[in-house]
Amino acid sequence: MYHSDNIFAKILRKEIPCDPIFENDDVLAFKDISPVAPVHVLVIPKSAYVSMDDFSAKASDQEIVTLMRAVGEVARQLGLEKDGYRVISNVGEFGGQQVPHLHFHILGGEKIGSLRPGAEDTHA
Ligand code: AMP
Repeated sequence: MYHSDNIFAKILRKEIPCDPIFENDDVLAFKDISPVAPVHVLVIPKSAYVSMDDFSAKASDQEIVTLMRAVGEVARQLGLEKDGYRVISNVGEFGGQQVPHLHFHILGGEKIGSLRPGAEDTHA
């Protein structure tokens, strides 16, 4: 169940400020307030979805295309496509999701390290 008192819903309603870098009718992208990489941007749909689980189950094909295209467009706008970048969407408690409004982290500007630092490399 989506609760509209989350911080990204407040940003969308302009009740609290953000540092926007991209906006269209359906999507907003803004800088993460606590960046963990030289470039750390969040891309969110303007519609009310809790997470990737909620979105992938309920969103229309058009909404999914629009959001995915925006993620790529934002990364290109930031000049990240040449050297590469990482896109992450945390889902729920085990995924480490803190804000219950769907968002994609775009991380770049340097080599982004292991997905799980310290974890054993299970790739042969
Ligand atoms: P997650 O753990 O995937 O839910 O990530 C939530 C992200 O939102 C974290 O990286 C926070 O630093 C970021 N965040 C929280 N509040 C704000 C805010 N007011 N403006 C920008 N980013 C925020």
